[in-house]
Amino acid sequence: MSDNKNFKPESLMMSYGYQPELSVGSIKCPIYQTSTFTFPNAEFGKRLFSVAYGLEEPEINEPQGLIYSRLNNPDLQILEERLTLWDNAEAGAVFDSGMAAITTVLLEFLKPGDTLLCSTPTYGGTDHFINHILDKFQINALWFQAGASEEEIRSIVEESGKKDSLRLIYIETPANPTNALIDIQMCRKLADEFGGEETVYLAVDNTYMGPIWSNPIDHGADLVLYSATKYIGGHSDVIAGACLGSAALIQRVKIMRTFLGNMADAWTGWLLMRSLETLKVRMEAQAKGAEVVAEFLKNHPKVEKVYYLGFIEKSHSDYAIYQRQYSSAGAMLSFDIKGGEKEAFTFLNNLKLIKLAVSLGGTESLAQHPYSMTHADVDSETKNRNSVTEKLIRISVGIENPEDLVFDMSQSLEKV
Ligand SMILES: *Cc1c(COP(=O)(O)O)cnc(C)c1O
Repeated sequence: MSDNKNFKPESLMMSYGYQPELSVGSIKCPIYQTSTFTFPNAEFGKRLFSVAYGLEEPEINEPQGLIYSRLNNPDLQILEERLTLWDNAEAGAVFDSGMAAITTVLLEFLKPGDTLLCSTPTYGGTDHFINHILDKFQINALWFQAGASEEEIRSIVEESGKKDSLRLIYIETPANPTNALIDIQMCRKLADEFGGEETVYLAVDNTYMGPIWSNPIDHGADLVLYSATKYIGGHSDVIAGACLGSAALIQRVKIMRTFLGNMADAWTGWLLMRSLETLKVRMEAQAKGAEVVAEFLKNHPKVEKVYYLGFIEKSHSDYAIYQRQYSSAGAMLSFDIKGGEKEAFTFLNNLKLIKLAVSLGGTESLAQHPYSMTHADVDSETKNRNSVTEKLIRISVGIENPEDLVFDMSQSLEKV
């Protein structure tokens, strides 16, 4: 397989990691809908278990044997290998949701007494898990605002008195829903600085821009996390998650996954492999559409402000981060409508083509009201601080003809 590494990922998504001769010549990987796998003999079974439980070291190039679908399954293994290509990762693990990927990483890399440093705003489910569930296990969280300087973050950690127990930095960039950016290289530097005897790992939730427009491992991240429900799945028909990183760290993540039992199933793995074949063309079409939509909104008299990465001013501190970390402005944007909840709801209620729903990254465009929907659980002071106000509307741009999206928004804005 290693020769194939010279091809671009989009060229390998149809075939990488799959050997047709092992599946009666099928051009596509079948769905291995099986709970368990037979061993040719007892010695073979013994060896597989010794390696799986870390009792014996695997030989270099020893194929990972199949045991039981909670541990591994061809649809998951091949999918994981394909995912590594986009992010230049050594290994990957797929899960039955983005939350499963995130919580498994948090549980594997933190223990009672440890401290976690996280960025805010972060995905609502992640925020809840950290504040209400990790808290029960005496795992402390420190928070910094997207946009905080290196100096500000350093003093948050130093003034907390918890510097020595810091074990993980967890960030989400661009931040949802306003596209505020966090510098991954700066976080790497802080992780190295705070790590003494014990390593401080850096995990990045790259759901918003990856894996096509940003690859956090190249900027110093140890682990990259995805809600594969979003762009990777891309058709709003599957819930899944993924984590990528070095072989050693993913081995730890996979052992935790084995015992939590939150791996993806074969059918989900198959659907995601099908989605990966069109990932790049879909995301590129979505980004093109977003550019057209953003320009339209920017010039509309009923729109106050547009939060779109393509509009970052050169003088803004995020500009250098944008240039370094992202190869596109992406397909997620938000805007402030003139007025408040009433005007925002009138706009949302009159859309004809764009659907009123949460989630993002799918082939169809979606619109929602973060203040009362995705961020309903966040206290209003935090929301206001992050520009999540009642006039804010978030749009995930799909693959429709951009002119139709503009027409739909235009007729809906007229009703406001
Ligand atoms: C949706 C989302 C998640 C959670 O993923 P699920 O697949 O819904 O569990 C985590 N992070 C971000 C940024 C998301 O958008």
